[in-house]
Amino acid sequence: MTGVAAIANDGEHPGLSRSKSMRTLSLVADRKIELVDVAPPAAPAAGEVQIGIKAIGLNHIDVWGWRGMAFAKRKLPLVVGVEAAGEIVAVGPGVTTSKVGDRVVAYGALTCATCKACREGRDNLCENVASIMGFHVDGFARDLINMPARLVVPIPAGVGFRDAACAPVAFGTVQHMLFDNAKLEPGETILVQAGGSGIGTTAIKMAKAIGCTVITTVGDDEKAAKAKALGADHVINYRTDRFEGVVRKLTGKKGVDVAFEHVGPDTFNGSLLCLKRGGRLVTCGSTSGQSTTINLFQLYLQQYRIFGSFGCSIRNIRESLAKMAGGLLPVIDTEVPLADFERGLNRLESRQVFGKIIVMF
Ligand SMILES: [Zn+2]
Repeated sequence: MTGVAAIANDGEHPGLSRSKSMRTLSLVADRKIELVDVAPPAAPAAGEVQIGIKAIGLNHIDVWGWRGMAFAKRKLPLVVGVEAAGEIVAVGPGVTTSKVGDRVVAYGALTCATCKACREGRDNLCENVASIMGFHVDGFARDLINMPARLVVPIPAGVGFRDAACAPVAFGTVQHMLFDNAKLEPGETILVQAGGSGIGTTAIKMAKAIGCTVITTVGDDEKAAKAKALGADHVINYRTDRFEGVVRKLTGKKGVDVAFEHVGPDTFNGSLLCLKRGGRLVTCGSTSGQSTTINLFQLYLQQYRIFGSFGCSIRNIRESLAKMAGGLLPVIDTEVPLADFERGLNRLESRQVFGKIIVMF
């Protein structure tokens, strides 16, 4: 029996702190995560809800946090888990937007709610953002968590916890990159780098859903077949072909409208070279390293537009969940139980994945 179920059966106040302990996954040192029992949270305070966590999506930010990052200010032990879905088991005083039994995902950046960016719904540009949960401060890998009610988003009927758990980071990030930043339009051509990754598979599906031509890169033939099956129009095995040359050929030397980047130094300049004049490159990651050099003549002569993108707004999470409700579901590589969180991270780090790895409670 899970901790949440045990607590829910515990009496008249489901979710409150009547159970003696709950499970939590704590990063205790670089590359060392332990499953430990801790005291459950107190009853939710005013404006808070208490969520019983059901599923967690793994992302590269989890791998970075697990490996250890010199520049990240944080204290160990740290509860891991950056994106999650669950069910509300208790609500604090004054909460009118949620009730017990609501299925929700949570926005995992502790924004201020009062600065200009927050007031305008540009949550990921909050001027006073305190921390990212699961990276700087305790995250979601625990049976119960108290959250500000303003940071939860309801899951539409018909969308399961496993899929919904991909909304706050994977889907939200791609939604924000493609539509808020790169302003991808129906009929355009897009290059999606690393099309087998969690966000790569999402980008392929979102771009195809609005009628774009999708060219994507993958690292082996098995992934190539899977990317084709997702709807990618052209798949390039970057280990056997130079993608820049193939893209040039495929587009009749014109180049693509948008390049979707998250690989970094290994592909960044190649992605720029694939753009048509005035093309847009949007990037949300740099898994192959931190720095590269770019040709500034090329940048301004070709009038490229480059967007750095990190996270998303709460609106993007709503849009993502609406897409899921409409049938645009995440590609799931593997589901692992809570105790196998590190096995999931190893798999993600090895790049042997096609789609998302989900940790189920
Ligand atoms: Zn703010």
